[in-house]
Amino acid sequence: MPTRAGEIAGAPGLDRHRWCVLLKHGEIFLRGRNKAAFQRRLHDNLRRALHGVGGSTWIKSEPNVTVLGGQVPLDDLVERARRVVGFNLVQPALRVPSTVEDVTGAALDLLTALCGGRPGLSFAVHARRRDKTFPLTSSRLSETVGSRVQRELGLPVDLSSPDVDLNIEVARKESYLSWLRHPGQGGLPVGASGRALVLLSGGYDSPVAAHRAIRRGLHCDFVHFTGAPYTNPSSTYKAYALARELNRCQPAGQLHVIALGAAQKQLALAGAERFQVVAQRRLMVRTACALAGRLPAEALVTGDNLGQVASQTLTNITTVDEAADLPVLRPLLGWDKQEIIDEARSIGTAGISVLPDEDCCKLLAPRRVTTGARPAELARIEKRIDMDDLVEELLRGRECLTPGSSSGSSPSTGTSQPRTVASA
Ligand code: ATP
Ligand code: MG
Repeated sequence: MPTRAGEIAGAPGLDRHRWCVLLKHGEIFLRGRNKAAFQRRLHDNLRRALHGVGGSTWIKSEPNVTVLGGQVPLDDLVERARRVVGFNLVQPALRVPSTVEDVTGAALDLLTALCGGRPGLSFAVHARRRDKTFPLTSSRLSETVGSRVQRELGLPVDLSSPDVDLNIEVARKESYLSWLRHPGQGGLPVGASGRALVLLSGGYDSPVAAHRAIRRGLHCDFVHFTGAPYTNPSSTYKAYALARELNRCQPAGQLHVIALGAAQKQLALAGAERFQVVAQRRLMVRTACALAGRLPAEALVTGDNLGQVASQTLTNITTVDEAADLPVLRPLLGWDKQEIIDEARSIGTAGISVLPDEDCCKLLAPRRVTTGARPAELARIEKRIDMDDLVEELLRGRECLTPGSSSGSSPSTGTSQPRTVASA
């Protein structure tokens, strides 16, 4: 059975039909009076995701469903729509006028193309009448279409596990026939929950955390700290490739790259010793908060995971939070590492995260990291440095990159050099 609509869209009998893609809304139907605003945002994001698709497209609203069509190969529309957060299901479909004749004729054409020449294949019809003025009820339409198919094509009905499960949705003017149901991203339209700044390292965790945040409707920008001038640029390339992958499911967020190496040395010279890692983390968070204020973003997101490494004990996390003046969201706090790696594989970031890099956190890391750093102990070290000046200096030296955009057409499988470089 074809799993891509494009494989049969041009089959004899089907080439005369019009095609579209049904996009089933996720949670926005829960949103009461904000529903219209959510839907507008969802459609704006969809339009952005369609940029550069190579032909004209259109979007139409039906209740709780968006219909997408255009002069573009069907599989390309499906692929673009599947990246857009806020759609639960993506279903390529035939669209026909809402009459019993047209619907039945299209069902026969579709099942002929899918099962023709293989009479042993079974089918089921599930019709849904959204427009109550349509002359047949949902079950009567299922029966009518089903018995015509049985009679004319000789296919057996199997309601529990059919080879082809034909869905028919009847709306006021047009009806839609589909047999493929691709999972979408689900979640809330990006931007509906505000804007956040993700602390993006090269590891597995922070990209997965970012993806979770994006799926909850946060439009994310990214900040990556390198150990430059004491490390090579490999971690920046990874962060760039990760941000580009994440930008495939949101309007492109920016990646800010900040060289932390000299500041890390200052912390070491101020006697940070076993507090070095927590002191660095506090500096990252302070700098990220200052940057967030300029974007403006309302929260930070990290890939922290309770107890995963010494810097992530409850005490250390609390001490890091004390340096933040924005909420620090940690979507992965309670995940197992294996769950994170599995998720990284499914969202396409694992292949980048696994690549080697020179990570700034390893630079100057003490042999033993304290698991119980208290804010007062950190304050003692930090008061030897003008932290406000240091943060300003770090921000002044940052580079601002724009990794790809939601219209990028091919999945990235490895690292790549930054494309757009602008001093910020
Ligand atoms: P990850 O797999 O995301 O690197 P990790 O398990 O290595 O996480 P840590 O190194 O303790 O854990 O980092 C915890 C979090 O701090 C990261 O998930 C990320 O959000 C942030 N972080 C760590 N290093 C950096 C960095 N160089 N630049 C930006 N953020 C960072
Ligand atoms: Mg890390």
